[in-house]
Amino acid sequence: MGLDPSENEGGVKTRVLAPPSSLAIYLFLVSVLGLTSLGLIAFLSPWGSTPAHLLVGATIFLAVGAILGEIKPVRLISPGEGTRFLSTSSPFVLALIAVAGPGIAVLVQVTASIADDVLSRRSVIKSLFNTAQYSLSVLAAAAVYYALAGVPLLSLPPLVGPQHIAPLLLAGIVMVAVNWLLVAGVVSLATHQRLSAVIKIDAQQTLLTNGLLISVGGVAAAVAPLGVGVLVLLAGPVVAAHLFAAKAAKYAHAATHDSLTGLGNREQIDLALGRAFVETGHGDAMGPGLVLLDLDHFKDINDTLGHPVGDRILKEVAARLASSAPDGASVHRIGGDEFAVVVEGNEAECEIAARDLVDSLDAPIQVEGLELLVRASAGVAVAPSHGLNGETLMKNVDIALYHAKLERDRISVYSREFDVNTVERLRLLADLRTALELGQLHVVYQPQVSLATGQTVAVEALVRWEHPDRGLILPDAFIPLAENSGLIYPVTAFVLDRALSDLAAWRRAGFETRISVNLSARHLSDIALVDQVGAALDRYDIPQGALVLEVTETGILADAARAGTVIRAVRARGVDISIDDYGTGNASLSYLRRLEVDELKVDRSFVSRLNDDDHDLIIVRSTVELALALGLRVVAEGVEDAATADVLAAFGDVIGQGFHLGRPVSADQIAQRLVGEQATSPSGQRGGH
Ligand code: C2E
Ligand code: MG
Ligand code: MG
Repeated sequence: MGLDPSENEGGVKTRVLAPPSSLAIYLFLVSVLGLTSLGLIAFLSPWGSTPAHLLVGATIFLAVGAILGEIKPVRLISPGEGTRFLSTSSPFVLALIAVAGPGIAVLVQVTASIADDVLSRRSVIKSLFNTAQYSLSVLAAAAVYYALAGVPLLSLPPLVGPQHIAPLLLAGIVMVAVNWLLVAGVVSLATHQRLSAVIKIDAQQTLLTNGLLISVGGVAAAVAPLGVGVLVLLAGPVVAAHLFAAKAAKYAHAATHDSLTGLGNREQIDLALGRAFVETGHGDAMGPGLVLLDLDHFKDINDTLGHPVGDRILKEVAARLASSAPDGASVHRIGGDEFAVVVEGNEAECEIAARDLVDSLDAPIQVEGLELLVRASAGVAVAPSHGLNGETLMKNVDIALYHAKLERDRISVYSREFDVNTVERLRLLADLRTALELGQLHVVYQPQVSLATGQTVAVEALVRWEHPDRGLILPDAFIPLAENSGLIYPVTAFVLDRALSDLAAWRRAGFETRISVNLSARHLSDIALVDQVGAALDRYDIPQGALVLEVTETGILADAARAGTVIRAVRARGVDISIDDYGTGNASLSYLRRLEVDELKVDRSFVSRLNDDDHDLIIVRSTVELALALGLRVVAEGVEDAATADVLAAFGDVIGQGFHLGRPVSADQIAQRLVGEQATSPSGQRGGH
């Protein structure tokens, strides 16, 4: 066992967290002690005199076996501890102590260790420490063997006989114990754990495997006098160990990895987190962190383009996430379109990692001639502030992701406040399903008034939820939930049907009002909307131009190509399109004009400050004038007083909507209002604009 905690899967790098002093002093002392003993033994060994019984062939064989055993360790995969590497050099070195003496045994062990360090590109400091600790453990073993065999340490080894096997096995135990203690000392200092705790971590496995190896060493020493021909037979068990380990590794990989993407599966996250927690050693250290990613609307892609395309996308996403994850991170697929990345680092580092992961999906994915844009949302939770164990981090990262989805932030770092909010919202979402079934939703209508004539020319349908326990719930509190859960489809279908049924009644009474219905962004990428709207229009025999669908700029920009298709198709059915909340997004008027919309609703944040803020006045005036010049109908939202209505009226033929002109009211109240307007209108004119 050499010093390299990076021998876990994923190449996790050592993070030395102790104050440099204690660890550095330890490394320095062991290195000096080890290298001095190495120098002394090399200097004092009786190199000149070679006894007849020194088995040259056996010595060479054992030396080669030791070096190969070190640079080609057996790869062991155990579900609990990830990948470990087992060096098989120790039985050969042990046998060398008995066959060729401590000088040669130490030199062979040091050569093997340095060769492995060079091949694995370990740092000079690690390599120095490894060299020193191997020298010390081999020398300790040699001292025990020589003492028990009754021979002075610096003399030539006696010819191995049956009486030497027990001393050699004891020496092997000392060799393993010294090696184990010296390395455990580093881990203990680096991770702030008690030495006894570090030793306990894999005591059982270390004892078992090393016990086996030591006995092989004993056999090797015993048969060495019989010649290389017999020693070669010992290669059998070592090769078999390699073959079995390779096969086991293959099965272990299949059991621990996702077969589609090759990433680690759900169980692996717990292990990766567990390991990362051991590495950071709890305390006040920062990290590890967990980033949970979920693809937006992946279900839609799967449903419309089929599972083979979905699979290709998941593979590509996996590859991009793996290549953009930071050093030391491990990437997992935990089912469906959810991925989790264990990151080593503090909150800021984990957030950067999350951003890189999300950004890696920015470029379109090419599948079967299509260019698909796949976006992801991400939640982030980082120890110690968001959880002190894997289970808590997992729970909280889930909440953070949920929050990111709800708030439409792409990345959300866990915060305690989310908890209340989330539980609350989840309950509300469950209630919304029932609300639809039990008819707790209803629709109110807010008048839109021509500022030139004072007539109600249209109404906007606004959904309301009469909750049995909480009373009236406004749409801002539940529409975002519905949008994220897919419940928005039945909600829109309900509002559309109710609105058109009320409109049909008003029209039968002779009023030619228009009606506006709000659409969510999700509908704009759903071509099924066109037939749904067409069917509703037919059901109530609604003429062209009487239904207006309101969409937001951001809704259009989210997927402009698809939105364009849907918008053109509904317009072909004689439905007008209105841009709601105009001014809050980034779309330019000329861009929206190209999409062929009919109406623009200036957002109330500009309109309500019209009389207080010159800047807003200029924005609203230029927007209104430009929109009118482009032939669009203009509705100003949020008209809260007469002064605002007057200013707007001066800009041209503007329609106003706001509390000053009429609050949202029931269908009956709208009917009464229309009747009232008809009675007071000088010309008796009805609706229209
Ligand atoms: P919106 O489409 O911009 O609707 C106008 C909102 O402004 C309504 O709030 C209305 O009550 C409010 N409002 C009207 N005049 C004034 C005013 O003078 N001052 C102020 N401060 N506010 C005014 P409401 O009904 O709470 O609706 C909020 C949002 O919820 C709507 O904004 C719309 O985006 C969404 N929404 C409402 N009903 C539906 C629906 O059926 N489907 C979908 N997808 N979204 C809906
Ligand atoms: Mg609206
Ligand atoms: Mg609006």
